[in-house]
Amino acid sequence: MPDAAGTRPRVLVLGGGFAGIGAAHKLNGADVDVVLVDRHDYHTFQPLLYQLATGLLETTAVGHSLRDLVKDQDNATIHKAPVTAIDLDGKTVQFDGLAPSTYDFLVLAVGAQVNFFGTEGAAEHAFPMYTLRDAVKLKDHVLERWEAADKDSELVDDGALTVVVVGGGPTGVETAGALAELYRSNFVTDYPSLSQEKARVVLVEAGDEIFAMFKPNLREYAKDALEQRTVEVMTGARVQSVSPTRVRLSTGEVLSAHTLVWGAGLQGNRLVQSLGIELQRGNRIAVGPDLELPGFPGVFVVGDVAAITDSKTEQVLPQLGSVALQSGEHAGEAISRRVAGKSTKPFAYKDKGTMAAIGRHAAVVQMLGGKTMKGRKAQFAWRAVHLALLPTNEDRAKAVVDWAGSEFTHQRVGRISVDADE
Ligand SMILES: Cc1cc2nc3c(=O)[nH]c(=O)nc-3n(C[C@H](O)[C@H](O)[C@H](O)COP(=O)(O)OP(=O)(O)OC[C@H]3O[C@@H](n4cnc5c(N)ncnc54)[C@H](O)[C@@H]3O)c2cc1C
Repeated sequence: MPDAAGTRPRVLVLGGGFAGIGAAHKLNGADVDVVLVDRHDYHTFQPLLYQLATGLLETTAVGHSLRDLVKDQDNATIHKAPVTAIDLDGKTVQFDGLAPSTYDFLVLAVGAQVNFFGTEGAAEHAFPMYTLRDAVKLKDHVLERWEAADKDSELVDDGALTVVVVGGGPTGVETAGALAELYRSNFVTDYPSLSQEKARVVLVEAGDEIFAMFKPNLREYAKDALEQRTVEVMTGARVQSVSPTRVRLSTGEVLSAHTLVWGAGLQGNRLVQSLGIELQRGNRIAVGPDLELPGFPGVFVVGDVAAITDSKTEQVLPQLGSVALQSGEHAGEAISRRVAGKSTKPFAYKDKGTMAAIGRHAAVVQMLGGKTMKGRKAQFAWRAVHLALLPTNEDRAKAVVDWAGSEFTHQRVGRISVDADE
């Protein structure tokens, strides 16, 4: 890679999630060289990971080639390499397997990572839901357990088909709802000889209620909708330890379950711990009003790894796709303005509402002014907002076709596993 002494300013974008792609796209046409580096060669659409894990969508509807996303952008190049170190004073970034790079502007958009909060056995045995690989691993594992039980039904009594989902936030609720629908709509006919009664989906939440971020009417609706789908909702219980076949709760209860899905917590990418700057709660980096890192002109921090204070509410914005996309785009615009000799503007977040899907025809939406929606109407709103976040029209078309298919037939086209050893 040439260094930053080239003919025009180099913008190094670290991470190709919503935030990194948003920044790169906004720099299209600017008089800069954009170099985007990600450890993967694809962009992951995290909100749909649970649909991949439960066979509703295929891998290519949730992961999209990064090179394809900038193919029409003359000033952008992509490299696949993990970032290993960032020297903010020396304006240099180190990678594994790629020559170090200097920069004139840096967009730090490396996202977050799972936080097991030190729960015994979780790092080894839990299935997190954060990456494309996580979702595929969970799907393969669940399918493998059903196939194993199909050959040896005694495994059913040992909890082979039971899944414990940890966390009563959107990730946990969406995953539990989708797993229950996969079990009761598809596996019930796929595996007619296996008892569905012992194939439990248990949602465990440490707080008193699920969906703490939503209004009480939406919380009640979500709990009812989950229970209608046969999800067992356990509140006031914390997972204490996990082994391959057992989950121990703080209540003393031990659940026989061969699968534990972790949807309970995130922290900023651990890469930021070595930056030598003060970090906020959850490993996040506080930024100024224009998203620049105080004390480091030209360095913008965006998306999940940033602690962005909303100018309207004075609260730190949540780790959401819309926050990541808008903040990334803002950083791209700020750099364009700087290069053109203009001053930057403060970031103003446009709130699209908080929403989550529970299952077929069941979702909740809470708007900024307090208005709420639930059921089919909310599912349409959820789909509209998430289709808008998808990176290309092709991805939108794929998702619409798969959703429409499942709407009429209840089918989940992706419920196959590809053996690694063939
Ligand atoms: C299961 C799940 C469901 C969600 N559902 C919703 C939802 O319904 N609606 C919503 O608005 N938000 C949702 N979110 C949140 C939303 O997905 C995130 O807020 C958003 O993805 C953050 O974007 P980002 O660009 O900051 O980070 P990411 O999307 O995480 O992107 C970070 C990128 O950095 C790369 N990277 C990380 N470390 C390195 C490294 N060392 N070297 C090189 N590259 C690296 C990663 O590969 C990744 O591509 C969900 C999140 C999860 C996990």
